[in-house]
Amino acid sequence: MKVEIISCLQDNYSYLIIDETNNLACIVDPSEAGPIVDYLKNKNINLKYILNTHHHFDHVGGNKELKKKYNSIVVGFKHDSERIPEIDICLEDNEIWKRDNFIAKIIHVPGHTKGHICFYFYEDKLLFTGDTLFSLGCGRIFEGTYEQMFSSLNKIKAMPLDTQIFCGHEYTLNNSKFCIKHDSENLNLKKKIQNIQIKLKHSLPTIPSTLKEELDCNIFLRAKDVKTFSKLRDLKDNF
Ligand code: ZN
Ligand code: FE
Repeated sequence: MKVEIISCLQDNYSYLIIDETNNLACIVDPSEAGPIVDYLKNKNINLKYILNTHHHFDHVGGNKELKKKYNSIVVGFKHDSERIPEIDICLEDNEIWKRDNFIAKIIHVPGHTKGHICFYFYEDKLLFTGDTLFSLGCGRIFEGTYEQMFSSLNKIKAMPLDTQIFCGHEYTLNNSKFCIKHDSENLNLKKKIQNIQIKLKHSLPTIPSTLKEELDCNIFLRAKDVKTFSKLRDLKDNF
C-alpha cells in the first residue's frame, strides 16, 4: 500500500491509501473534497472508500461530495452513525474491516470524541490516529474523560514500535514547544525537533512519525499515570 498525504483546510491532513495493483484507494478523513479531487484528476485511481476516524467537520467535510462524485462507500464507527455524514458501513471496536485488498483493525479510542476510532492497517503497520494521537501531542478531550483518553493512548502504546503514525493535523512544531518546555533534558526530543524544523523549512509534512519516536518524545505518551497525564492535558489547553 502506498500512502499519499493530502493537505486540507488550514492544517489538516487527509490520507489516500492506494492499492496500486488494483488502482483502488481509501481516503482517510477527507476534510474537504477539493484537494482530493485535484489529486485524483487525470489519475487512474478509483476512490472506493471513505474512512472517518470521527465526526468532526474537519474530518468528514468532504464525504458528501466525494461520495457523489466517485460513488465511494463511507465507513465509520457504528455508535457515531448518526453523526457521520453519508455513512454506509458501520464498524465495531476490534472489528477487522476487510474489503478488496484493504485490511484494517478498528480500535475504539474515546476521549477526543465518544466515537473516535483508529484504523490500523496491520499488514503494513500503518495507524491512522485522527485527533487522538498527534505527533508530540494528543487531542483535546471534548466528549470523554481523562481516564478514557489515557486508556485510549495506552492501546496505541502497546502496538509495534515501528508502526507509522498518520495523524489528523500538522500540529507537530507547536506540540514540540510544549514537550520541550516540560521535558527539557530529553535528547531524543531535541533530535526530533531538529528533524521537524528541517522538514518544515522544506515545506514537507512532519508526518508520518513512528510509535517509537512518539514513545521517546511525546510527553503525553510518557506520562506514567492518569494524574500526570491530566495535568499535562490541562496545561496544554492553556499553552
Ligand atoms: Zn476532532
Ligand atoms: Fe481535527
